[in-house]
Amino acid sequence: MNPNLQQVSSVYFFVMLITLGLAILLIRYTVTLRRYLKEFTRVSKKVSNKEFHTRFNTYVKGELGELSKNFNYMIQIMDSTIEEVEYKHLQLTSIVKSVSHGILAIDIKGKILLINDIAKEMLKCDIETNLEGINFKFVVGDKKILETFQKYVGSTQNEVIELNLKDNLVYRIKIDPVYLQDSKHAIIGSIINIEDITELVKLENMRKDFVANVSHELKTPLTSITGFVETLKINDDIDKNTRNHFLDIIEKESNRLKGLIEDILLLSSIENGQDLSYEKVKLFDVFKEVCEITEYIASSKNITISYNFEDEDVCIYGFRDNIKQIFLNLIDNGIKYTPKDGHIEVVQHYDENRQNIILEFKDNGIGIPKESLNRIFERFYRVDKARSRDIGGTGLGLAITKHMVKSLGGNITVESILGIGSDFIVTIPVDIK
Ligand code: ADP
Repeated sequence: MNPNLQQVSSVYFFVMLITLGLAILLIRYTVTLRRYLKEFTRVSKKVSNKEFHTRFNTYVKGELGELSKNFNYMIQIMDSTIEEVEYKHLQLTSIVKSVSHGILAIDIKGKILLINDIAKEMLKCDIETNLEGINFKFVVGDKKILETFQKYVGSTQNEVIELNLKDNLVYRIKIDPVYLQDSKHAIIGSIINIEDITELVKLENMRKDFVANVSHELKTPLTSITGFVETLKINDDIDKNTRNHFLDIIEKESNRLKGLIEDILLLSSIENGQDLSYEKVKLFDVFKEVCEITEYIASSKNITISYNFEDEDVCIYGFRDNIKQIFLNLIDNGIKYTPKDGHIEVVQHYDENRQNIILEFKDNGIGIPKESLNRIFERFYRVDKARSRDIGGTGLGLAITKHMVKSLGGNITVESILGIGSDFIVTIPVDIK
């Protein structure tokens, strides 16, 4: 063979060999790259589906190996960061959920960021619906609440507003600005606290009414007493009969004042929860005792008091003086509101399951009009103010009685027909200890 040709052939062979080697390497690299890219696509798909526990499994050397290591590390960091954020969100929502008031966090554009179930209930929204991300305008149905939110959300001031709503509800709404961390200027939204203060307002009104009523009730007899004393002082020549008549009025009014003050003190001591020692009290004995006390006044009107006890040995646990007061108030009322020659009957029996002791105080007196039946247990409520005053009533007797019955775990109701008579029914649980 021509030596030149032989040389060319060996170069050619050598080039072919290198080319073949390169081709093999390229094919291998391409296969690795494709496998890598396939794995990359799989992992990135899973990550975008929030499956942060996915990891890159293909083992490759070099830069691709470095890239997959970094990628795995990145997913791991994302995984733990998201877990941390989720945990913090869970903590926050648990805190907000446990608050006993309605809580809402609203961003500067009015979007709800957080809302607890109580707030949903108070805003009359469905508890199951997720309201986060929705503008409060589409959530708050009540006009007054909506106007308040619109006016103050985003305000830099802390606002407290009391709203009288439908169904006699009263809400106290506190709206505080939320600042971007450490910044005293950048407001990012508002936090709203809604409190149902209906009961509180009711109690406060009751207290105000009570003070006004007490003042009025005390003033009336006092004015009368000072008036007659003045008249007696100025007029020396008043005849004996008129003088005695004036003194009788002063005595009557003084007694009324005394009764009123005693009743107010009694009511306040019950409300303050007296430190009482409970004892076993035989109801029949208490009834007999009260009969003795009221006998004189009953016989002065020729009113008879009879009884019918299913169980004369029945006992309850309670404060003896309070139990006696219940009997006294109800029998005394029976005598007061029953005309001459009337009749009162005290009946004791059990309910169907013998779970409760029932005491009934029946009279054939003047009765109570229908519209007053659910009001007579209110303080100072009297069907006929003048009449009740005239017979020495304070308007507190039934309020005190109701309190005392409640302290025994029981309740009191009344059935009455005007002109026919009344039946006050006291129910007390048998197993009271
Ligand atoms: P008072 O001191 O005026 O009797 P109470 O609280 O004991 O106050 O009673 C409230 C009102 O209920 C009375 O003013 C009276 O109008 C009515 N009332 C109470 N008991 C009777 C009864 N047995 N019969 C008719 N009316 C009654």
